[in-house]
Amino acid sequence: MTPVSRPTRKPTKILIVEDEESFLDALRIGFTREGFAIDVARDGREALERFEAGSPDLVLLDVMLPRMSGIDVCREIRSTSDVPIIMVTAKGEEIDAVVGLEVGADDYVTKPYRFRELLARVRSVLRRSRLDDDAAEPASPTATSSEDPIEIGDVHVDPSRHEVRIRGAVIDLPLKEFDLLTALIGRAGRVASRDQLIDEVWGHDYVGDTKTLDVHIKRLRNKIEQNPSEPTRIVTIRGLGYKFAD
Ligand code: CA
Repeated sequence: MTPVSRPTRKPTKILIVEDEESFLDALRIGFTREGFAIDVARDGREALERFEAGSPDLVLLDVMLPRMSGIDVCREIRSTSDVPIIMVTAKGEEIDAVVGLEVGADDYVTKPYRFRELLARVRSVLRRSRLDDDAAEPASPTATSSEDPIEIGDVHVDPSRHEVRIRGAVIDLPLKEFDLLTALIGRAGRVASRDQLIDEVWGHDYVGDTKTLDVHIKRLRNKIEQNPSEPTRIVTIRGLGYKFAD
């Protein structure tokens, strides 16, 4: 896809939260070279201060931090903001990674990682973040096939306004959950395969853990199902994927 040329804009700003100087240096150099603006915090509390002061477009958040854990920082940011968050975990912290997604991170990477891989994740998350005018790449046309509102039963989804209502009441959803719901409801009554959903929500270059999809389905059910343990809206089609019941 050819990038659309746009007027000069201020660069996309990444808040890097990392207490290991060697990682910090590499990230600072790498992202600056790719044209991003960088802000840095070296512990959890500083992360929250820098987040409020600097309004970054994306937060790259290490899990193990002095003073306040990345999990708590993520939870705190999510209570006020939909900013894309990528968690960074060390090997052996897989449990933390899943918890990270449950507290609202959009994605995670495991140390050690290659910068190219991280950069692809960052771009993918930004691309999906339609509210973010400073996205490093234009929105993918596959993100949603239509911007028209969709109504199935008592669930109303309006992609252009990024709004979900159930029986008229607005439901707050982070970006990934919103994209996932849009992907499901856009083909209500038909099965959406796991691969289709991962492609549409995380991008075809997504190489992460497929558990990510299940974690997001679970979070979505907790918000839109009357009884999340016996879902009637988002139903599991064993061995295939998920279906939004029409
Ligand atoms: Ca650390």
